[in-house]
Amino acid sequence: MTEQAPDKSPFADCKRIVIKIGSSLLVDTASGIKDEWLDSLVEDVASLHANGAQILIVSSGAIALGRNVLGLPKRPLKLDESQAAAAVGQIELGRAWSKSLSMQNLVPGQILLTLNDTEGRASRRSYLNARDTIERLLSFGAVPVINENDTIATSEIRYGDNDRLAARVATMLGADLLVLLSDIDGLYTAPPGSNKDAEFISNVDTITPAIEAMAGSAGSELSRGGMVTKIEAGKIATRAGTAMIIASGKRSHPIAAIAAGEAHTYFHAKAIKSGARKAWIAGQLEANGDIIVDDGAARALKRGKSLLPAGVTAVSGTFSRGDAIAIRSLDNQLLGHGLIAYDCVEADMIKGAQSDELQSLLGYAGRPALVHRDDMALVDTIAEINETTES
Ligand code: GLU
Repeated sequence: MTEQAPDKSPFADCKRIVIKIGSSLLVDTASGIKDEWLDSLVEDVASLHANGAQILIVSSGAIALGRNVLGLPKRPLKLDESQAAAAVGQIELGRAWSKSLSMQNLVPGQILLTLNDTEGRASRRSYLNARDTIERLLSFGAVPVINENDTIATSEIRYGDNDRLAARVATMLGADLLVLLSDIDGLYTAPPGSNKDAEFISNVDTITPAIEAMAGSAGSELSRGGMVTKIEAGKIATRAGTAMIIASGKRSHPIAAIAAGEAHTYFHAKAIKSGARKAWIAGQLEANGDIIVDDGAARALKRGKSLLPAGVTAVSGTFSRGDAIAIRSLDNQLLGHGLIAYDCVEADMIKGAQSDELQSLLGYAGRPALVHRDDMALVDTIAEINETTES
């Protein structure tokens, strides 16, 4: 809370940015999509994109749009009604994003996730699939447009869930910055509506219990606007090395406005992005298998490369795609841990193989790396991270 807001635009050094848009910004309860506002936001997105940043959109609005299209009553919807509304609204939402992005020559790719898919510890296979698909979309220059898969959600869909979803997406993809756009311009020391001494906070260095208390408890004026879930999102993001901005989107060109200095609360990232993830991988004590690699591969790993099948001499253990495995040298020294991209049968099938042989061995194209470098924590790297965090 002490530091001053950075003078330069908070987007300046960001290579990967997740922008979350709340339903109320995008959908008018009477007339549906707010096209003009959306087009102004997308113009901002296009200019970040043109400057070389990769942009991911987390868009709410499916339920709000669907209930509008279906003409549902204004009372709170039951779970199955919300899900039906989301089914109708998601198509409209996708169409609106597609239309607006295409005017800027940008291509959207729709991704519907459940929170589980984004929680690496819970469901590592879906996590890897979701992350790999989004990575691929980004490498094609497309703009992922993400929402929760409301139609199959098993618990009550709450507004605010997308704040958490956006934070998980940001950490899953190692984004530099998460921007939560809603009708709240940032964090205040107290609910500004009822307390005229409430002060605006433009910088949060660490999310302390005092900061959490400012967000209010469930049912308070601020939490109805979603400040509680926004602070929760902030905790997820900043601890994994992603900075976060809470800002109002209630004006056109909301991103350009933030860049120009419009009020917002900036939450500083705590951890080094790769450090947080690698420490987590290293902490997966229970490796389900061992992968033995030759000397050439061991050297390549130390230079920061992914582990390719060609460098593998032996595979043992029983594991599925996404499980933790130990990587060992020919003399059985532990080199590191990783999350493996293939199950044990396939890994054994392709050990020692060149990339162009994968298709014929597997019967499908396969992925080039057995363990991607982002999914690997080498013993040396972890020692370095520990030293930095201890000092
Ligand atoms: N997934 C919901 C929708 O698109 C919104 C959830 C949220 O805004 O947090 O309608």
